[in-house]
Amino acid sequence: MKSFKNSELKVMPSGDFQLLGIRCKSCGEAIFGLHPLCLNCSSSDYEQITLENRGKIRNYTILHVPPHQDWKGPVPYVVTEIEFPNGAVTTTQLVDIDPANTRIDIGMPVQIELREADRDDDGESIMIYVAKLLA
Ligand SMILES: [Zn+2]
Repeated sequence: MKSFKNSELKVMPSGDFQLLGIRCKSCGEAIFGLHPLCLNCSSSDYEQITLENRGKIRNYTILHVPPHQDWKGPVPYVVTEIEFPNGAVTTTQLVDIDPANTRIDIGMPVQIELREADRDDDGESIMIYVAKLLA
C-alpha cells in the first residue's frame, strides 16, 4: 500500500494514513501538502503538520465527463474543495454519492478516507484520499 503523492499523503503498512501540510511561522497560514515555501507569504520558516481527517465542503462541482479513459469511478462524479479545521484547503473527489439524487451544500461536514486508485506493476495498491459526507 503506498501513497499516490508523498508530499500530501503518508500511508502506513497498517492502512492508517496522515494528511501532510505546513504551518507558516511568519504569517500563521496552514497549507495542505508539503511545500518548500509558504504559498501565502513565501517564507521558508514553517513547521510540518498533520491535518485532521475531516473538514467541510467549501465549494464543489459536478463533472459529467470522466477525467481520463481508464477512469473506474462513477460518472457523473463530484469534485469538492475541502477546508480543514485549521483553515488548510485541498481539492478531492466526493465519493459514495449520487449527485443526481443528493443535495450538496457548502459547509457540509466530510471525513477523509483512503481509496485504492490503481495498482502499480508489482500489484501494490496506490492509495488516494477522498472525501465522504458525514451522515
Ligand atoms: Zn506564510
